[in-house]
Amino acid sequence: MSDFLDQCRQLLGASHILSTPGDMAGYLTDWRARLTGKALAVLSPADTEQVAAIVRLCQQHQIPIVPQGGNTGLVLGSIPDQSGTAVVLSLRRLNRIRAIDPVNNTITVEAGCLLAHIQHAAQDANRLFPLSLAAEGSCTIGGNLSTNAGGTAVLRYGNTRELCLGLEVVTAQGEIWNGLRGLRKDNTGYDLRDLYIGAEGTLGIITGAVLKLFPRPAAELTAMAAMATPQDALRLLTLAQAHCGAALTGFELLSDDCLTLVTRHFPKMQRPFPDHYPQYVLLELSDSESTEHAAAMLEAVITSALEQQIIADAVVAASIAQSQALWKIREHIPLAQAAEGKNIKHDIALPISCIADFIAITDQQLQAQFPGCRMVTFGHLGDGNLHYNVAPPIGVAADDFIAAQSAVNRVVHDSVEQFQGSISAEHGLGALKRDEIRRYKSAVEINLMQAIKRALDPHNLMNPGKVV
Ligand SMILES: Cc1cc2nc3c(=O)[nH]c(=O)nc-3n(C[C@H](O)[C@H](O)[C@H](O)COP(=O)(O)OP(=O)(O)OC[C@H]3O[C@@H](n4cnc5c(N)ncnc54)[C@H](O)[C@@H]3O)c2cc1C
Repeated sequence: MSDFLDQCRQLLGASHILSTPGDMAGYLTDWRARLTGKALAVLSPADTEQVAAIVRLCQQHQIPIVPQGGNTGLVLGSIPDQSGTAVVLSLRRLNRIRAIDPVNNTITVEAGCLLAHIQHAAQDANRLFPLSLAAEGSCTIGGNLSTNAGGTAVLRYGNTRELCLGLEVVTAQGEIWNGLRGLRKDNTGYDLRDLYIGAEGTLGIITGAVLKLFPRPAAELTAMAAMATPQDALRLLTLAQAHCGAALTGFELLSDDCLTLVTRHFPKMQRPFPDHYPQYVLLELSDSESTEHAAAMLEAVITSALEQQIIADAVVAASIAQSQALWKIREHIPLAQAAEGKNIKHDIALPISCIADFIAITDQQLQAQFPGCRMVTFGHLGDGNLHYNVAPPIGVAADDFIAAQSAVNRVVHDSVEQFQGSISAEHGLGALKRDEIRRYKSAVEINLMQAIKRALDPHNLMNPGKVV
């Protein structure tokens, strides 16, 4: 093994190889600190050629590779297992913006660019790169592509997959596939780009991408509405889409329990309403005309929703600071949950029309089996994506409740299946849901996935133990 590490040192330079437990620590534990893996070394190549050379070396020595970007993934995909035989391949040094083409509306980036860095580069070119999520200051575009990340603007712009036109990939054999095409039409056979997107590093290593840019909106407006039920939130969605069309870019649901949790753990944050209501929706409008035009649309939605008794109250942010304050409430829910203690999380997708029924039925099933369990339900309602999290009843130790995780998952995931949903909407499968997914995908689908894996990575060295 020292032979392998010596060759890595020659390729990358000694300072880009970490091999002591202390040096590697930040790369081996997942973001939620649930699991710490072991690795032979953490390798940090500087460019695509070095990535390819390392992959060839790993093939030669049959060393498994765990690609890693910002390590903000939530399904244990970016950390190694306990064997200590794998290397973590950190892509963070591949952090250059290679080109911006304002006429083609594209930006070509390296995989280790932070998402926030790409957003700023687009802004400097008077363009918008619309992917946005709470981890944008730490996650990388390679990780976003590999998990097909969603975020808060999917309603208008789609998931990361929809934002990508071309890829550069180092294959499991250590070859470089240059698919950095900035084409909106390209029907020339199997779509390899779409195979690598969402593959969570199990088929190859993404080193670069061509991404779509959009015109910057002339105005952005944020509002929060209060209502009685998730069904009312769905009625508001239909109304807002009818009034605003594509200008409606975000539609986030949060329950009163979420708001209580946030204000308890972050007391400086204010409740937007003097009274408590069971549910709230955060709406974001991005208008291509003007602030006045956006405000008129929003007012029409709110007036109509009040008249139809869909909502009980609403606030519209009057400044960027107020808009940020509303979004901060939404973004602090996961942090408040972490501060509250362990809970059982689900990242699920459902047909939007079924969401209210799903919540009513599944809440009831969970209360019947785990009396007093507390629901922390929020998410990207406009995309049919809920973070449906279950916290222990008051007085029950978190570890005792977590021991029932499989039973809780069974109730939630079987209910998702009943409504023809998905048990992973935007976070992926990683190691966390690899076995669980077998219960919900047909043998035909699993076999096809395994056949793809065998064809592209016959020695099972690319992020083994994840996804399939
Ligand atoms: C506070 C917080 C909020 C979040 N909000 C959202 C949200 O709204 N929507 C959402 O979708 N996700 C969200 N996430 C999850 C996470 O941020 C995303 O999954 C993100 O896309 C991961 O990027 P990363 O660079 O951190 O990837 P990592 O965590 O490093 O890796 C994720 C997976 O991709 C693989 N990978 C990484 N880079 C490459 C590469 N270059 N080539 C091949 N494989 C690679 C890894 O092996 C791993 O399987 C959130 C996370 C946090 C902590």
